[in-house]
Amino acid sequence: MKLRPYQETCIAATLGAFQAHQKVLIVAATGTGKTVVLAKIAEHFAVKGRILFLAHREELIRQACDKIAAWTSLSTAVEMGGERADGFFGQPPDVVVASVQTLARAARRARFQPDEYSLVIVDEAHHAVAETWQRVITHFGDAKVLGCTATPDRLDKKGLGTTFDTAAFIYEIRDAITDKWLVPIRQMIARIEGLDLSAVRTTAGDLNESDLEAVMLKSTAVHGVAQATIKAARRPDGTIRKCLLFATTIAHAHALATAIGTYTDRSRVLALSSKDGSEERRAGLRAFRNGEIDVLCNVMLYSEGFDEPLVEMVSVARPTKSRALYSQVIGRGTRPSCPHGCDGYCDHADAKRNLLVLDFAGNAGKHSLVNCLDVLGGGADPVIHARAMQKIAADGGCDVIEAIEQAQKELADFERRMALEAARRQKDVRVTLREVDPFATIFTILGIHPAAGRWGGVAPTPEQRGEIERLKIDREVNVRLLDRGQAAEILAAIRRRRAAGLCTFPQARVLLKFGENPDVPFEAASGLIDQIARNGWKPLPKPVSNSLTPTSVVP
Ligand SMILES: [Zn+2]
Repeated sequence: MKLRPYQETCIAATLGAFQAHQKVLIVAATGTGKTVVLAKIAEHFAVKGRILFLAHREELIRQACDKIAAWTSLSTAVEMGGERADGFFGQPPDVVVASVQTLARAARRARFQPDEYSLVIVDEAHHAVAETWQRVITHFGDAKVLGCTATPDRLDKKGLGTTFDTAAFIYEIRDAITDKWLVPIRQMIARIEGLDLSAVRTTAGDLNESDLEAVMLKSTAVHGVAQATIKAARRPDGTIRKCLLFATTIAHAHALATAIGTYTDRSRVLALSSKDGSEERRAGLRAFRNGEIDVLCNVMLYSEGFDEPLVEMVSVARPTKSRALYSQVIGRGTRPSCPHGCDGYCDHADAKRNLLVLDFAGNAGKHSLVNCLDVLGGGADPVIHARAMQKIAADGGCDVIEAIEQAQKELADFERRMALEAARRQKDVRVTLREVDPFATIFTILGIHPAAGRWGGVAPTPEQRGEIERLKIDREVNVRLLDRGQAAEILAAIRRRRAAGLCTFPQARVLLKFGENPDVPFEAASGLIDQIARNGWKPLPKPVSNSLTPTSVVP
């Protein structure tokens, strides 16, 4: 078995980060094989001492043991509930895989010496800020700590930044889709008459479950969701896409299965939950995998075990305000699947083409609900979010990343036209657009619109800094304010300019300042700048034209 390139990069970056830091975080989207990466890092640390692997769900604990066994030569033992990691014949295991709930109890924790471990691995580290986790992590004071999460909601000093010193590697769902390790996501939104969430209270940052259940169980809502799910799932040839539906509660899952059964073959719809016995669950999943079941209804908060690459559609009948929860749910369907056994997303016609995500909208009241845009990086800028949302809502679903990129491009184009116009009208006034954004000018010149925030304030890499200096754009940007994602987009845009044979960035900057189109070849730019210089560094006279007047694309 071979590691994928980003996994190699992640391991190297993490080991590098541990040279300077005690607590290191990595971010890896669901479905990108993070456990394998953690296992390989554990192997590197094993020469220094034993390793403790903390997780909070049995599924993750078993998975960690399996991956460590498959990818390394380390021995493992589980510490959870009645199970004790005592090792074999007096030989302690290399890796103790422990349930954080079990170690949260002081008596149980006392079995472990604080200096026994060289590394503590914290899976699903977004929980690590919670008090229980802190208690366990603190017990092993001197060990290095490696956290891993799929959803870095907060990398600042109020969130994960309090627990971790640095984020060594970030590979979010959008990165993995772009690199073709996950399938593209198409989103559809069904408006449901009578679905009214305005009176639902907020508990612990998300919609209150019992309030929500009451709303979702109303018969108009149940039938609205059921009908829309089948309509979206039905292919032109009448067959039904393999659909995983996430309900609010067990009762809701069963009500939906019954309702969906009235719109399609009832025997091909199944509800499964934690209430069903493990044998029943296994049989249900097998039937789903084999194609005997089209729609599998389950409960959002207990989505363990529903990893099925063949899933082509996820129906989210559990609105949420939590990005972590939402990404976990769509992560159940983003894995590629090809009958020819390709690793990653491929061009085979019979391979899975995309994941269709169906969301339900009604009256959200004051709640701001999460959808695919928020998970794929379109959520940071409200203007882009609104424009991309229009595209998704307009034609019964579209590719989410395409919608975001189109919205970004339209906004960047609009701002450039505004900048050109402003430069023409106000001869000596510097172009200042969207003053809250310190990079407005460089983004405008380059015609890009990278939203800050997806990289949560992670600083540019030394390589990026070096390239920014070499390109002499360091006067243009305050590198200290720039995050890694923005640096990447700036450098990519400059490379695109070069590949297209356009003039240098400093030339483009001068041209835009004097109201000229910055997208011209090097020679033409030199000529124009000479003319501007001969004109006493004043804008060149222009024939009157309305072609650059901003039109109705005002965001
Ligand atoms: Zn293939």
